[in-house]
Amino acid sequence: MSDNLERGLDAMRSQMDTRVMSYFSSCVHCGICADSCLFCTETEDPRYTPIYKAEPLRKLWKREYTFWGKLGSKLGLLKPMTESDLSDWEELVYDGCTMCSRCSMVCPVGIDIAYMIRKVKEGLAAAGFSPEGLVEAGKRAVEIGSPMGVTLKTLEATIRVQEKETGLKMPMDVEGADYLCLFSSGEIAGFPEFIGSLAKIFKATGVSWTISSDYFEATNTGVQLGNSKMAATLVERVVSAAEKLKVKHVISPECGHAYTTIRWDAPNFIGRPLPFKVVHIMELLDELRRDGRLKTAGVSNDKLSYHDPCNAGRRGGVLNQPRDLLGMVAPNFTELPETGAMNWCCGGGGGVSSNERADELRLKVFSAKKRQLDAVKPDGLVTACSNCRHMLEDGLEENDMEDIELLGITELIADHLVEETA
Ligand code: SF4
Ligand code: SF4
Repeated sequence: MSDNLERGLDAMRSQMDTRVMSYFSSCVHCGICADSCLFCTETEDPRYTPIYKAEPLRKLWKREYTFWGKLGSKLGLLKPMTESDLSDWEELVYDGCTMCSRCSMVCPVGIDIAYMIRKVKEGLAAAGFSPEGLVEAGKRAVEIGSPMGVTLKTLEATIRVQEKETGLKMPMDVEGADYLCLFSSGEIAGFPEFIGSLAKIFKATGVSWTISSDYFEATNTGVQLGNSKMAATLVERVVSAAEKLKVKHVISPECGHAYTTIRWDAPNFIGRPLPFKVVHIMELLDELRRDGRLKTAGVSNDKLSYHDPCNAGRRGGVLNQPRDLLGMVAPNFTELPETGAMNWCCGGGGGVSSNERADELRLKVFSAKKRQLDAVKPDGLVTACSNCRHMLEDGLEENDMEDIELLGITELIADHLVEETA
Protein backbone atom coordinates (compact mmCIF):
# COMPACT_ATOMS: atom_id res chain seq x y z
CA MET A 1 0.00 0.00 0.00
CA SER A 2 1.42 3.40 -0.99
CA ASP A 3 2.17 6.03 1.65
CA ASN A 4 -0.39 8.35 0.02
CA LEU A 5 -3.15 5.78 0.27
CA GLU A 6 -2.24 4.90 3.84
CA ARG A 7 -2.32 8.57 4.86
CA GLY A 8 -5.66 9.09 3.08
CA LEU A 9 -7.26 6.04 4.69
CA ASP A 10 -5.93 6.98 8.13
CA ALA A 11 -7.36 10.48 7.73
CA MET A 12 -10.76 9.02 6.82
CA ARG A 13 -10.60 6.53 9.70
CA SER A 14 -10.02 9.45 12.05
CA GLN A 15 -13.27 10.99 10.71
CA MET A 16 -15.34 7.84 11.21
CA ASP A 17 -17.61 8.95 14.03
CA THR A 18 -20.97 7.51 15.08
CA ARG A 19 -22.80 10.07 12.96
CA VAL A 20 -21.04 8.91 9.81
CA MET A 21 -21.65 5.26 10.62
CA SER A 22 -25.32 5.73 11.41
CA TYR A 23 -25.77 7.86 8.28
CA PHE A 24 -24.35 5.13 6.05
CA SER A 25 -26.50 2.47 7.66
CA SER A 26 -29.61 4.66 7.27
CA CYS A 27 -29.29 5.56 3.59
CA VAL A 28 -32.22 3.99 1.73
CA HIS A 29 -30.71 4.74 -1.70
CA CYS A 30 -33.77 6.71 -2.76
CA GLY A 31 -31.76 9.18 -4.85
CA ILE A 32 -33.84 12.16 -3.68
CA CYS A 33 -30.65 14.07 -2.85
CA ALA A 34 -29.77 14.14 -6.57
CA ASP A 35 -32.64 16.53 -7.40
CA SER A 36 -31.46 18.99 -4.76
CA CYS A 37 -27.90 19.35 -6.05
CA LEU A 38 -27.15 21.97 -8.70
CA PHE A 39 -24.31 19.86 -10.07
CA CYS A 40 -26.80 17.06 -10.82
CA THR A 41 -29.69 19.17 -12.03
CA GLU A 42 -27.62 21.44 -14.24
CA THR A 43 -25.33 18.80 -15.79
CA GLU A 44 -27.78 15.85 -15.65
CA ASP A 45 -24.75 13.73 -14.76
CA PRO A 46 -25.69 11.16 -12.08
CA ARG A 47 -22.07 10.95 -10.89
CA TYR A 48 -22.73 14.21 -9.05
CA THR A 49 -25.40 12.56 -6.85
CA PRO A 50 -24.57 13.93 -3.39
CA ILE A 51 -24.30 10.66 -1.48
CA TYR A 52 -22.16 9.17 -4.28
CA LYS A 53 -19.56 11.85 -3.55
CA ALA A 54 -19.08 10.17 -0.15
CA GLU A 55 -18.42 6.78 -1.76
CA PRO A 56 -14.74 6.41 -0.67
CA LEU A 57 -15.82 6.90 2.95
CA ARG A 58 -18.71 4.45 2.48
CA LYS A 59 -16.35 1.81 1.07
CA LEU A 60 -14.03 2.20 4.04
CA TRP A 61 -16.97 2.02 6.48
CA LYS A 62 -18.34 -1.09 4.81
CA ARG A 63 -14.98 -2.92 4.75
CA GLU A 64 -13.75 -2.04 8.21
CA TYR A 65 -16.77 -1.20 10.34
CA THR A 66 -19.54 -3.64 9.33
CA PHE A 67 -19.79 -7.34 10.10
CA TRP A 68 -20.48 -8.40 6.49
CA GLY A 69 -17.83 -6.05 5.16
CA LYS A 70 -15.19 -7.44 7.51
CA LEU A 71 -16.18 -10.98 6.60
CA GLY A 72 -16.28 -10.17 2.89
CA SER A 73 -12.82 -8.65 2.92
CA LYS A 74 -11.42 -11.58 4.92
CA LEU A 75 -12.81 -13.97 2.32
CA GLY A 76 -11.41 -11.82 -0.47
CA LEU A 77 -14.93 -10.96 -1.74
CA LEU A 78 -14.45 -7.20 -1.20
CA LYS A 79 -11.60 -5.59 -3.05
CA PRO A 80 -9.20 -3.55 -0.90
CA MET A 81 -9.30 0.23 -1.27
CA THR A 82 -6.88 1.54 -3.86
CA GLU A 83 -5.33 4.89 -4.61
CA SER A 84 -7.71 5.27 -7.55
CA ASP A 85 -10.67 4.97 -5.14
CA LEU A 86 -9.43 8.29 -3.81
CA SER A 87 -8.00 9.94 -6.91
CA ASP A 88 -11.15 9.21 -8.95
CA TRP A 89 -13.18 11.23 -6.45
CA GLU A 90 -10.97 14.32 -6.38
CA GLU A 91 -12.81 16.10 -9.18
CA LEU A 92 -16.26 15.00 -8.05
CA VAL A 93 -15.71 16.28 -4.53
CA TYR A 94 -13.66 19.45 -5.04
CA ASP A 95 -15.05 20.63 -8.40
CA GLY A 96 -18.55 19.21 -8.12
CA CYS A 97 -19.58 20.21 -4.59
CA THR A 98 -19.79 23.64 -3.00
CA MET A 99 -20.64 22.21 0.43
CA CYS A 100 -23.90 24.13 0.11
CA SER A 101 -25.87 21.54 2.16
CA ARG A 102 -29.00 21.76 0.03
CA CYS A 103 -28.88 17.96 -0.23
CA SER A 104 -28.81 17.66 3.56
CA MET A 105 -32.18 19.48 3.67
CA VAL A 106 -34.06 16.97 1.55
CA CYS A 107 -32.76 13.56 2.65
CA PRO A 108 -35.83 11.73 4.03
CA VAL A 109 -33.77 9.99 6.71
CA GLY A 110 -31.94 13.14 7.80
CA ILE A 111 -28.45 12.41 6.52
CA ASP A 112 -26.21 15.49 6.57
CA ILE A 113 -24.54 14.61 3.29
CA ALA A 114 -22.38 17.75 3.19
CA TYR A 115 -20.95 16.68 6.58
CA MET A 116 -19.91 13.35 5.01
CA ILE A 117 -18.40 15.02 1.92
CA ARG A 118 -16.36 17.26 4.18
CA LYS A 119 -14.92 14.10 5.76
CA VAL A 120 -14.09 12.59 2.38
CA LYS A 121 -12.10 15.76 1.69
CA GLU A 122 -9.96 14.97 4.75
CA GLY A 123 -8.94 11.67 3.16
CA LEU A 124 -8.34 13.15 -0.27
CA ALA A 125 -6.29 16.06 1.09
CA ALA A 126 -4.15 13.76 3.25
CA ALA A 127 -3.51 11.51 0.26
CA GLY A 128 -2.47 14.49 -1.87
CA PHE A 129 -5.54 14.50 -4.11
CA SER A 130 -6.63 18.14 -3.88
CA PRO A 131 -6.74 20.78 -6.63
CA GLU A 132 -3.60 22.82 -7.01
CA GLY A 133 -5.37 26.19 -6.71
CA LEU A 134 -6.81 25.28 -3.34
CA VAL A 135 -3.56 23.74 -2.09
CA GLU A 136 -1.70 26.94 -3.00
CA ALA A 137 -4.41 29.05 -1.32
CA GLY A 138 -3.92 26.91 1.81
CA LYS A 139 -0.15 27.49 1.74
CA ARG A 140 -0.66 31.26 1.44
CA ALA A 141 -3.22 31.16 4.27
CA VAL A 142 -0.69 29.51 6.59
CA GLU A 143 2.44 31.37 5.46
CA ILE A 144 1.07 34.84 4.69
CA GLY A 145 -2.17 34.78 6.69
CA SER A 146 -4.45 35.12 3.66
CA PRO A 147 -5.44 32.63 0.92
CA MET A 148 -5.15 35.43 -1.64
CA GLY A 149 -1.85 36.72 -0.29
CA VAL A 150 -3.38 39.89 1.18
CA THR A 151 -0.79 41.22 3.63
CA LEU A 152 -1.11 43.66 6.52
CA LYS A 153 0.44 46.30 4.25
CA THR A 154 -2.34 45.73 1.69
CA LEU A 155 -4.99 46.01 4.38
CA GLU A 156 -3.39 49.20 5.72
CA ALA A 157 -3.35 50.72 2.23
CA THR A 158 -7.02 49.75 1.77
CA ILE A 159 -7.87 51.26 5.13
CA ARG A 160 -6.11 54.51 4.22
CA VAL A 161 -8.27 54.82 1.08
CA GLN A 162 -11.44 54.09 3.08
CA GLU A 163 -10.42 56.61 5.76
CA LYS A 164 -10.01 59.24 3.07
CA GLU A 165 -13.37 58.40 1.51
CA THR A 166 -15.34 58.32 4.74
CA GLY A 167 -13.37 60.86 6.77
CA LEU A 168 -13.35 58.32 9.61
CA LYS A 169 -10.40 56.73 11.42
CA MET A 170 -10.47 52.93 11.32
CA PRO A 171 -9.59 51.55 14.76
CA MET A 172 -6.57 49.25 14.73
CA ASP A 173 -5.42 47.19 17.74
CA VAL A 174 -7.74 48.86 20.24
CA GLU A 175 -7.49 46.85 23.46
CA GLY A 176 -10.80 46.26 25.22
CA ALA A 177 -13.00 47.09 22.21
CA ASP A 178 -16.35 45.30 22.25
CA TYR A 179 -16.00 43.82 18.77
CA LEU A 180 -13.07 42.51 16.75
CA CYS A 181 -13.92 42.55 13.05
CA LEU A 182 -12.47 40.02 10.63
CA PHE A 183 -12.48 40.46 6.86
CA SER A 184 -12.18 37.97 4.07
CA SER A 185 -9.39 38.54 1.57
CA GLY A 186 -12.03 38.61 -1.17
CA GLU A 187 -13.66 41.54 0.60
CA ILE A 188 -10.44 43.50 1.08
CA ALA A 189 -9.37 42.94 -2.53
CA GLY A 190 -12.76 43.14 -4.25
CA PHE A 191 -15.16 45.13 -2.09
CA PRO A 192 -13.07 47.42 0.15
CA GLU A 193 -16.03 49.79 0.53
CA PHE A 194 -17.42 47.18 2.95
CA ILE A 195 -14.80 48.37 5.47
CA GLY A 196 -15.75 52.02 5.02
CA SER A 197 -19.46 51.13 5.29
CA LEU A 198 -18.84 49.33 8.58
CA ALA A 199 -16.92 52.30 9.95
CA LYS A 200 -19.81 54.62 9.06
CA ILE A 201 -22.43 52.35 10.63
CA PHE A 202 -20.41 51.72 13.79
CA LYS A 203 -19.73 55.43 14.23
CA ALA A 204 -23.43 56.25 13.85
CA THR A 205 -24.55 53.48 16.21
CA GLY A 206 -21.79 53.93 18.79
CA VAL A 207 -20.32 50.43 18.44
CA SER A 208 -16.84 50.03 19.91
CA TRP A 209 -14.80 47.94 17.47
CA THR A 210 -11.31 47.20 16.26
CA ILE A 211 -9.27 45.45 13.61
CA SER A 212 -6.26 43.35 14.66
CA SER A 213 -2.94 43.85 12.89
CA ASP A 214 -1.93 40.36 14.09
CA TYR A 215 -4.73 38.56 12.27
CA PHE A 216 -7.67 39.82 10.24
CA GLU A 217 -8.54 36.96 7.88
CA ALA A 218 -12.00 35.42 8.16
CA THR A 219 -11.62 32.80 5.43
CA ASN A 220 -10.59 29.36 6.61
CA THR A 221 -9.00 27.51 3.71
CA GLY A 222 -8.41 24.48 5.94
CA VAL A 223 -12.17 23.86 5.89
CA GLN A 224 -12.43 24.25 2.13
CA LEU A 225 -9.48 21.94 1.60
CA GLY A 226 -10.52 19.37 4.17
CA ASN A 227 -7.49 19.81 6.39
CA SER A 228 -8.62 19.97 10.02
CA LYS A 229 -5.10 20.67 11.25
CA MET A 230 -4.84 23.73 9.03
CA ALA A 231 -8.37 24.77 10.00
CA ALA A 232 -7.38 24.59 13.69
CA THR A 233 -4.19 26.62 13.09
CA LEU A 234 -6.20 29.38 11.43
CA VAL A 235 -8.86 29.37 14.17
CA GLU A 236 -6.11 29.62 16.81
CA ARG A 237 -4.87 32.80 15.11
CA VAL A 238 -8.30 34.39 15.49
CA VAL A 239 -8.43 33.27 19.12
CA SER A 240 -5.02 34.70 19.99
CA ALA A 241 -5.75 38.01 18.21
CA ALA A 242 -9.03 38.29 20.13
CA GLU A 243 -7.42 37.31 23.45
CA LYS A 244 -4.59 39.80 22.97
CA LEU A 245 -7.08 42.64 22.43
CA LYS A 246 -9.42 41.32 25.16
CA VAL A 247 -12.51 41.67 22.96
CA LYS A 248 -15.88 40.22 23.93
CA HIS A 249 -17.14 39.50 20.42
CA VAL A 250 -15.73 38.57 17.03
CA ILE A 251 -17.60 39.71 13.94
CA SER A 252 -17.72 37.37 11.01
CA PRO A 253 -18.01 39.59 7.92
CA GLU A 254 -19.92 39.06 4.68
CA CYS A 255 -18.50 35.60 4.03
CA GLY A 256 -20.63 32.47 4.34
CA HIS A 257 -18.25 29.66 5.22
CA ALA A 258 -16.18 31.94 7.46
CA TYR A 259 -19.24 32.30 9.66
CA THR A 260 -20.11 28.63 10.02
CA THR A 261 -16.45 27.85 10.65
CA ILE A 262 -15.83 30.34 13.43
CA ARG A 263 -19.34 30.17 14.88
CA TRP A 264 -20.09 26.45 14.81
CA ASP A 265 -16.98 24.42 13.95
CA ALA A 266 -14.17 26.36 15.63
CA PRO A 267 -14.51 24.91 19.17
CA ASN A 268 -14.33 21.39 17.73
CA PHE A 269 -11.26 22.25 15.68
CA ILE A 270 -9.32 23.59 18.66
CA GLY A 271 -10.85 21.30 21.29
CA ARG A 272 -12.11 24.01 23.65
CA PRO A 273 -14.81 26.68 23.80
CA LEU A 274 -14.07 30.05 22.22
CA PRO A 275 -13.29 32.85 24.69
CA PHE A 276 -15.62 35.24 22.84
CA LYS A 277 -19.04 35.32 21.24
CA VAL A 278 -19.24 35.17 17.45
CA VAL A 279 -21.74 37.28 15.52
CA HIS A 280 -22.35 37.50 11.82
CA ILE A 281 -22.36 41.09 10.64
CA MET A 282 -26.04 40.66 9.63
CA GLU A 283 -26.90 39.56 13.18
CA LEU A 284 -25.17 42.60 14.65
CA LEU A 285 -26.73 45.09 12.23
CA ASP A 286 -30.16 43.58 12.83
CA GLU A 287 -29.66 43.79 16.60
CA LEU A 288 -28.75 47.48 16.21
CA ARG A 289 -31.91 47.94 14.11
CA ARG A 290 -34.09 46.27 16.75
CA ASP A 291 -32.52 48.40 19.49
CA GLY A 292 -33.37 51.52 17.49
CA ARG A 293 -29.71 52.45 17.14
CA LEU A 294 -29.45 51.79 13.41
CA LYS A 295 -31.51 54.36 11.58
CA THR A 296 -31.89 54.85 7.85
CA ALA A 297 -33.46 57.50 5.69
CA GLY A 298 -34.80 57.18 2.16
CA VAL A 299 -35.23 53.99 0.20
CA SER A 300 -34.21 52.35 -3.04
CA ASN A 301 -37.27 51.96 -5.25
CA ASP A 302 -35.55 49.34 -7.37
CA LYS A 303 -36.90 45.81 -7.37
CA LEU A 304 -34.28 44.11 -5.19
CA SER A 305 -33.95 40.39 -4.45
CA TYR A 306 -31.72 38.60 -1.97
CA HIS A 307 -29.31 35.73 -2.61
CA ASP A 308 -28.91 33.72 0.62
CA PRO A 309 -25.28 32.62 1.03
CA CYS A 310 -25.58 28.86 1.72
CA ASN A 311 -23.36 28.76 4.77
CA ALA A 312 -24.70 31.85 6.51
CA GLY A 313 -28.32 31.06 5.65
CA ARG A 314 -28.99 27.36 5.28
CA ARG A 315 -26.20 26.13 7.55
CA GLY A 316 -25.83 29.13 9.82
CA GLY A 317 -29.45 30.23 10.32
CA VAL A 318 -28.90 33.87 9.27
CA LEU A 319 -32.08 34.07 7.21
CA ASN A 320 -34.42 36.67 8.74
CA GLN A 321 -31.84 39.31 9.67
CA PRO A 322 -30.90 40.34 6.10
CA ARG A 323 -34.58 40.46 5.14
CA ASP A 324 -35.44 42.62 8.15
CA LEU A 325 -32.56 44.94 7.23
CA LEU A 326 -33.72 45.10 3.62
CA GLY A 327 -37.16 45.97 4.94
CA MET A 328 -35.67 49.30 6.08
CA VAL A 329 -34.51 50.41 2.64
CA ALA A 330 -36.08 48.27 -0.10
CA PRO A 331 -39.90 48.61 -0.32
CA ASN A 332 -39.96 46.69 -3.61
CA PHE A 333 -38.03 43.73 -2.24
CA THR A 334 -39.07 40.57 -4.11
CA GLU A 335 -38.13 37.06 -3.04
CA LEU A 336 -36.56 34.72 -5.57
CA PRO A 337 -38.34 31.38 -5.97
CA GLU A 338 -36.88 28.56 -3.81
CA THR A 339 -35.19 31.04 -1.55
CA GLY A 340 -34.18 31.14 2.13
CA ALA A 341 -33.12 27.76 3.48
CA MET A 342 -33.72 26.16 0.07
CA ASN A 343 -31.92 28.79 -1.97
CA TRP A 344 -29.79 27.54 -4.85
CA CYS A 345 -26.06 27.96 -4.37
CA CYS A 346 -24.20 30.48 -6.56
CA GLY A 347 -21.86 27.66 -7.63
CA GLY A 348 -18.61 29.04 -6.23
CA GLY A 349 -18.66 28.07 -2.54
CA GLY A 350 -16.68 25.49 -0.61
CA GLY A 351 -13.41 26.45 -2.31
CA VAL A 352 -14.74 25.82 -5.84
CA SER A 353 -13.99 29.39 -6.90
CA SER A 354 -10.34 28.98 -5.78
CA ASN A 355 -10.03 25.96 -8.04
CA GLU A 356 -9.41 27.08 -11.62
CA ARG A 357 -9.99 23.57 -12.93
CA ALA A 358 -13.66 23.96 -11.92
CA ASP A 359 -14.22 27.29 -13.73
CA GLU A 360 -16.21 25.84 -16.62
CA LEU A 361 -18.34 23.68 -14.34
CA ARG A 362 -19.17 26.45 -11.85
CA LEU A 363 -20.29 28.70 -14.70
CA LYS A 364 -22.41 25.89 -16.13
CA VAL A 365 -24.21 25.23 -12.85
CA PHE A 366 -24.91 28.95 -12.48
CA SER A 367 -27.94 28.15 -14.67
CA ALA A 368 -29.78 27.26 -11.43
CA LYS A 369 -29.30 30.84 -10.21
CA LYS A 370 -30.17 32.17 -13.65
CA ARG A 371 -33.53 30.37 -13.53
CA GLN A 372 -34.30 31.98 -10.17
CA LEU A 373 -33.37 35.42 -11.49
CA ASP A 374 -35.28 34.97 -14.77
CA ALA A 375 -38.43 34.24 -12.75
CA VAL A 376 -38.25 37.59 -10.93
CA LYS A 377 -36.12 39.81 -13.16
CA PRO A 378 -34.88 42.02 -10.32
CA ASP A 379 -33.09 45.33 -10.90
CA GLY A 380 -30.58 44.41 -8.24
CA LEU A 381 -29.41 41.34 -6.35
CA VAL A 382 -28.27 41.84 -2.77
CA THR A 383 -26.14 39.35 -0.88
CA ALA A 384 -24.06 39.06 2.28
CA CYS A 385 -21.04 37.07 1.15
CA SER A 386 -18.08 38.39 -0.81
CA ASN A 387 -17.36 34.97 -2.28
CA CYS A 388 -20.95 34.70 -3.58
CA ARG A 389 -20.62 38.21 -4.91
CA HIS A 390 -17.53 37.34 -6.93
CA MET A 391 -19.27 34.23 -8.31
CA LEU A 392 -22.48 36.11 -9.06
CA GLU A 393 -20.46 38.73 -10.94
CA ASP A 394 -18.88 35.99 -13.08
CA GLY A 395 -22.22 34.26 -13.65
CA LEU A 396 -24.08 37.42 -14.60
CA GLU A 397 -21.30 38.42 -16.98
CA GLU A 398 -21.20 34.98 -18.59
CA ASN A 399 -24.97 35.11 -19.16
CA ASP A 400 -25.18 38.74 -20.37
CA MET A 401 -27.18 39.67 -17.29
CA GLU A 402 -25.01 42.56 -16.14
CA ASP A 403 -28.05 44.84 -16.08
CA ILE A 404 -28.77 43.24 -12.68
CA GLU A 405 -26.82 45.30 -10.18
CA LEU A 406 -24.97 43.40 -7.46
CA LEU A 407 -25.02 44.89 -3.98
CA GLY A 408 -23.58 44.06 -0.58
CA ILE A 409 -26.14 44.52 2.16
CA THR A 410 -23.82 46.39 4.56
CA GLU A 411 -23.00 48.93 1.87
CA LEU A 412 -26.67 49.30 0.96
CA ILE A 413 -27.56 50.08 4.58
CA ALA A 414 -24.59 52.47 4.90
CA ASP A 415 -25.78 54.33 1.80
CA HIS A 416 -29.07 55.13 3.60
CA LEU A 417 -27.61 55.65 7.05
CA VAL A 418 -28.73 58.46 9.33
CA GLU A 419 -25.32 59.54 10.52
CA GLU A 420 -26.06 60.79 13.99
CA THR A 421 -24.10 59.35 16.92
CA ALA A 422 -26.23 57.13 19.15
S1 SF4 B 1 -31.60 11.26 -0.07
FE1 SF4 B 1 -30.63 10.38 1.76
S2 SF4 B 1 -31.42 8.29 1.83
FE2 SF4 B 1 -31.81 9.03 -0.25
S3 SF4 B 1 -30.00 8.41 -1.44
FE3 SF4 B 1 -29.60 10.47 -0.73
S4 SF4 B 1 -28.46 10.16 1.20
FE4 SF4 B 1 -29.46 8.19 0.73
S1 SF4 C 1 -23.53 20.08 -0.56
FE1 SF4 C 1 -24.55 21.14 -2.29
S2 SF4 C 1 -23.15 20.94 -4.00
FE2 SF4 C 1 -22.51 19.43 -2.44
S3 SF4 C 1 -23.54 17.56 -2.99
FE3 SF4 C 1 -24.88 18.61 -1.54
S4 SF4 C 1 -26.28 19.82 -2.83
FE4 SF4 C 1 -24.55 19.21 -4.13
